[in-house]
Amino acid sequence: MAAPGGWRPAPTLPEIAFAGRSNVGKSSLLNRLVRRRALARVSTTPGRTREINFFRVNDAFVIADLPGYGYARVARAQRAAWRPLIEGYLEGSAALRGVVVLVDARHDPSADDEAMLSYLAELGAPTLVAVTKVDKLAARERAVRPAALARALGLGEDQVVATSARDGTGRDELARAMVDLLRTPPWR
Ligand code: GDP
Repeated sequence: MAAPGGWRPAPTLPEIAFAGRSNVGKSSLLNRLVRRRALARVSTTPGRTREINFFRVNDAFVIADLPGYGYARVARAQRAAWRPLIEGYLEGSAALRGVVVLVDARHDPSADDEAMLSYLAELGAPTLVAVTKVDKLAARERAVRPAALARALGLGEDQVVATSARDGTGRDELARAMVDLLRTPPWR
């Protein structure tokens, strides 16, 4: 499967995809996760990324950075372009071991987030939710928000990780959860 306009590594290494609404903090979290400032540009124009970017990590696995979805300012024609791209990748990549869906801590999941999660559930893809920007929450909310989101989304608490790209919260926990995904045999 080729990513139009992007380099696509041979799928010899297991892959984990990152998905989320534009502006959810995906580039920032990816930067924090692999500790490489230059890894992903932090976008100033939401919805600009329209191809899949692949990052090889430690020669051990590949992160597939899917284009941000569902941003209101993205024109219908552009939505029409990202949907087949995202779904084509998720359905076609033999190396895919799981998907990390990013959800902003301050907002209820959008209709697009819910559509993505039910699509993944239908597909049977192992899924984690990274709750982003938890540094913006008050301490009390920070403690309860991930479990509340897990309940609202019908996920197990072990599938939801509170993160902040700003202060590094959840970085190690997310990395461990990803390693667990990589150790799990392919689901298809
Ligand atoms: P992307 O479009 O999903 O890749 O989102 P970006 O990583 O470009 O981030 C979108 C905006 O959210 C930027 O203004 C970031 O500075 C901000 N942001 C990202 N992560 C965090 C975080 O953990 N905490 C806070 N407070 N802001 C963040």
